[in-house]
Amino acid sequence: MTPWQRLYYSILRHPANRRPKEADSGVITLEEVDDAVAEAMIHFMYHFDYNNTQGISTMVFNAQVYCLADQYMMAALKHLAKDKFEAAIKTGWAMDDFLLAVDVVYSSSPEGDRGLRDLVVGVSGDNLEKLLKNVGFQNLLSEKPKFAADIIISGVSKKASSKDGVHTYRCPSCGKNIKIEWQEGSYFYCVHCSARRMDWASYRIV
Ligand SMILES: [Zn+2]
Repeated sequence: MTPWQRLYYSILRHPANRRPKEADSGVITLEEVDDAVAEAMIHFMYHFDYNNTQGISTMVFNAQVYCLADQYMMAALKHLAKDKFEAAIKTGWAMDDFLLAVDVVYSSSPEGDRGLRDLVVGVSGDNLEKLLKNVGFQNLLSEKPKFAADIIISGVSKKASSKDGVHTYRCPSCGKNIKIEWQEGSYFYCVHCSARRMDWASYRIV
């Protein structure tokens, strides 16, 4: 270890720089993970990149690097960790360590920080049916109600935005906009001027 590394390690290990204990509950707090994460941070300072050299779960590892980068306000490292995390969960969501990664994200990343939360919520939403067959995932939903709530909220808003038929049209008779669910081939009365038409498709804006 170089003196620099020793310095960083001592900073990281100083009690004042550690997260409060309750924030860690349920999270794997393995010392070797901490070491590898600290090493990644130091490596990044010199090479603007880092690798998971310890064979730790890539998803968990990158989530922890992200959290550490946030604590030390290293925006570039945070960005890189997010990209690596995204790539890792896209292929790794079916593995058990995805659950650990979600746990890390919801226990250790800052409360209002949507960075990793949106990623795990998105992947979970896309693969919800398969994930729900996993008892571990079910348990995680009970243990992390915020995670469960985020999945529901994201699912509903996704459904609403992709709902077929709800669009905005500009009425050619009065010039006002209306947001309606209009089916091709049916009549619809403009809510502003009561014009009755079935050619709304020509006047669609959004
Ligand atoms: Zn009208």
